[in-house]
Amino acid sequence: MGKKLYHGAAYYPELWDSVVIDQDLQLMKETGINIIRMGEFAWSTLEPEEGKIDVSFFAELINKFYENGIETVMCTPTPTPPIWMTHGFPERLFVDMAGRRMGHGSRQHICSNNQYFRERAAIIAEKLAKGLGSLPGLIGWQLDNEFKAHVNECTCATCKELWHKWLREKYRTIGSLNNEWKIGAGQPAYRSFEEVPVPENTASFRSLPLRMAYRQFSMEKIAEFADEQAEVIRQYSKAPITHNSSIGFHVDNERLFKNLDFASFDTYATIEHAGAYLINCDIWRNLKKDKGFWIMETSPSFSASLEGTATPHPNGYLKAEAAAAYALGSEAFCYWLWRQQRTGCEQPHGSVISAWGKPAIGYENVLEVERMREALEPILLSSQSCQAEVALVYSDHAKAYFQNGPFKKLNYRGFITEFYQQILSNGIHRDVIQPGADLEGYKLLFTPYLPSLPEDAAERARQFAEKGGIWITGPLTGDGGTAIPEDDDELVLEQKYGEGKIVQLHFIPRSEEEKKRLEKIIDQYANEAGVDLRMDISPGTIAIPRKAEGNQIWVMVNMDGNGGEIDLPFKGYDLISECAVPCGKTEIGKFEYKVLQSFESHSPAVS
Ligand SMILES: [Zn+2]
Repeated sequence: MGKKLYHGAAYYPELWDSVVIDQDLQLMKETGINIIRMGEFAWSTLEPEEGKIDVSFFAELINKFYENGIETVMCTPTPTPPIWMTHGFPERLFVDMAGRRMGHGSRQHICSNNQYFRERAAIIAEKLAKGLGSLPGLIGWQLDNEFKAHVNECTCATCKELWHKWLREKYRTIGSLNNEWKIGAGQPAYRSFEEVPVPENTASFRSLPLRMAYRQFSMEKIAEFADEQAEVIRQYSKAPITHNSSIGFHVDNERLFKNLDFASFDTYATIEHAGAYLINCDIWRNLKKDKGFWIMETSPSFSASLEGTATPHPNGYLKAEAAAAYALGSEAFCYWLWRQQRTGCEQPHGSVISAWGKPAIGYENVLEVERMREALEPILLSSQSCQAEVALVYSDHAKAYFQNGPFKKLNYRGFITEFYQQILSNGIHRDVIQPGADLEGYKLLFTPYLPSLPEDAAERARQFAEKGGIWITGPLTGDGGTAIPEDDDELVLEQKYGEGKIVQLHFIPRSEEEKKRLEKIIDQYANEAGVDLRMDISPGTIAIPRKAEGNQIWVMVNMDGNGGEIDLPFKGYDLISECAVPCGKTEIGKFEYKVLQSFESHSPAVS
């Protein structure tokens, strides 16, 4: 990986005959698809009867596509266990917090902590890795599919037993659990770990520490399952391993990607939520800092299911999305899905081609992405993502706290994305980092909406300020989110700390006026901290700096379809049109992209 920019699609050859597969191969070549992802739902095809596993269908396909210039990411098929796994074995099924047992017929209906499931999952992963792992066309692995997208915490008998074991390892004594959970106020203390329930329906308020601990238990267990699968694959294959996650799922992405080789995510944000799209790119780039991330799934036009349909992208937006992703460090931009399904709950979903092999809605936009990819590829492959000077902390634990705790009615994702937008609209290049991330190289740090800021993260932030950084914390951070003063003078509290500063924000920017205020505060402290990686741009357009040989390039993308304006601080050179660009105001068209560098540092070798 890393020698090309990938443009791909999810492909389900197990649903089609060989005539259709040959047609797909031809159409993919014409469209410019150079990577396919296969296999995540194919367990029943691979192992129709228990123990009868045959991976040759996929081996032949991987080879055939490779000979035609198309590489493969292969998946472990564990989100859809075959019927023989659960029929007659209700104890293997997932049980939700209301006590409802899932049934076969969809996805994620099995308990991923079930011992028998784990054994069969390891066996199928091993067979795939042995059979496909050294094929030249196989360039990566995806584990499972969208962990915990459709379900959250399982409460089956297996999980209950593992929960008690987990609690014992974490707290050692039941006294320390009672103490830490502050049990006694309205609840009798537990006398043993076996008495601690799984979160179920309760008559009144649920215990927040119990809910938070159970979420953490569940997030650790699913990451352990990923580790287990990765370990099996690594015995037989050198291809790097990922998982397609999202900030919407019930996982701790920081922990999940810890032992994986590269980070990838799925996104179906519409143009109104371009900020949500961009924050994903900034999060996933920083989950594996020295590696490119992947957009494993996005729609060529619109997402849909039998439940409803999202608004299709306006023409041109797909190209803007893809240009932004590649410039922000994505190695791949992949669609879900290549060929529309003939049946099933996702039959209405946007695809590159229709079930009968004709261009679907958005096909012209996919061709536009391919032309852009070809133009940007040499420039992006000879440059790298820059570390930002500004970091914003995103936390899946904070998200869990918001979902379970006193802020239940507040939406963490919405709040953090809104905060992010104010950094974005200042034209500032930013990293979105995890609570455990290193703060080396940053000048300005934001930690909003972290009610349970971990002590080690707080300590790192204090040291960051002590050494001269500006740490802006809040609202709702560190104090369980209690104090929101009414007095206007106390909404922003600044104190010197070592060589730097700690600034506390005590207002939630919800009204337009409050959002403007936050935008100004960010601007003021970015100036004070000496943030250089920023560009004066009109709203709706973004500027992405990249490090090239001996100089810097800026990729500009208009995301809102209204066109925009950049106030260029240098006399520039446009690497795409190969023209000089004057210093000062320059325009960018509707969904257009440009790559600019300063005229002085322009080296003919790059163009
Ligand atoms: Zn379970």
